[in-house]
Amino acid sequence: MIEKPDMLDFSLEEVEQAVQRLGQPGYRAKQILKWLHKGVSHFDEMTDLPQAFRQSLNEQFQIGRIQILERHHSNTGDAIKYLFLLSDHNIIECVVMRYKYGNTLCLSTQVGCRMGCRFCASTINGLVRNLSAGEMMSQVIEVNRELEENGERRIGNLVLMGTGEPLDNYSNTVKFIKMVHYPMGINMSYRNITLSTCGLAPRMIELADEGLPVTLSVSLHAPNDKLRRFIMPAASVYPIIDVIEASRYYYEKTGRRITFEYILIKDLNDRKEHAEELAELIKGFPSHVNIIPANEVSGLDFRRSPERTIQRFIRELESRGVVVTRRRELGLDIEGACGQLRRSRLTGRRNQRYER
Ligand code: SAH
Repeated sequence: MIEKPDMLDFSLEEVEQAVQRLGQPGYRAKQILKWLHKGVSHFDEMTDLPQAFRQSLNEQFQIGRIQILERHHSNTGDAIKYLFLLSDHNIIECVVMRYKYGNTLCLSTQVGCRMGCRFCASTINGLVRNLSAGEMMSQVIEVNRELEENGERRIGNLVLMGTGEPLDNYSNTVKFIKMVHYPMGINMSYRNITLSTCGLAPRMIELADEGLPVTLSVSLHAPNDKLRRFIMPAASVYPIIDVIEASRYYYEKTGRRITFEYILIKDLNDRKEHAEELAELIKGFPSHVNIIPANEVSGLDFRRSPERTIQRFIRELESRGVVVTRRRELGLDIEGACGQLRRSRLTGRRNQRYER
């Protein structure tokens, strides 16, 4: 059986084309998107469309809902992790982080990841497949629906920091960013979206040229190529200097200050000379360093730097004029913290599908 195209994957232009093919006026596209991004599961619920038109939509398209499989609330109440079942039975995760200023969603862009960072659980079983733009939208839509049902505030900020490398799934990710910004739908401001990358330099340049003023976070994690290649195998392809140059270009094009993420791993990248080298490397354009104390992952052989070392590293950077923030760690007890999203835990096997 040939699957009907999923309308949640459609951009405004694509919905417009579909609508016109069905002999309806173009403005129907916005009506449809409004319903879709609100979370309806069936075309029949789109009550301001003519009934015959709803039927044709139904015959030709589907609304590919993803299903909430599990939710885990952290003890401290400041994070909720969601597990979703995709239509092909793959599983993805995302995390809602509750801050005083609002709710942030950390969402996934791929099923698994092929970047191979040594400290990251998401990459352990490699990449299964890319998520479609609609599957990224669905994470936001489903979480918003629940928050609203519980009388809570909708998602106000998005961080593309769940499983996957967003720039390794470039076209779907960019399509998603544009879709989530649609005023008739979620209406998320670009400025409230942060995309995190392990530094695929040519793609960072391409993104700068898209003209979407999203915040770019660059996972640096080491101040030189030798160490960086050891920690992040993907760094072998793009020298650190190219990553810094692409970051500078991004800043110049978008005016958005760059965030450099730096995990602190015990006895690996946390010494004074690393801080010095880092400060030297990134000087010259507005940026700041976000220090992430490494979260330990069972099965991966590294340790978090001791608190004293973390404090010293931060002071070292600050004394050299670097603006430093430290990542707040939410959801540790639900394995919802950075780098801990790993679905295979569900079956305990190396394959990543959900089996009842
Ligand atoms: N692939 C993208 C986005 C996903 S990872 C990237 O590499 O940036 C999001 C952030 O979580 C990255 O900075 C990543 O390095 C960090 N992270 C991954 N595993 C971690 C761990 N075990 N402890 C702390 N941070 C981790």
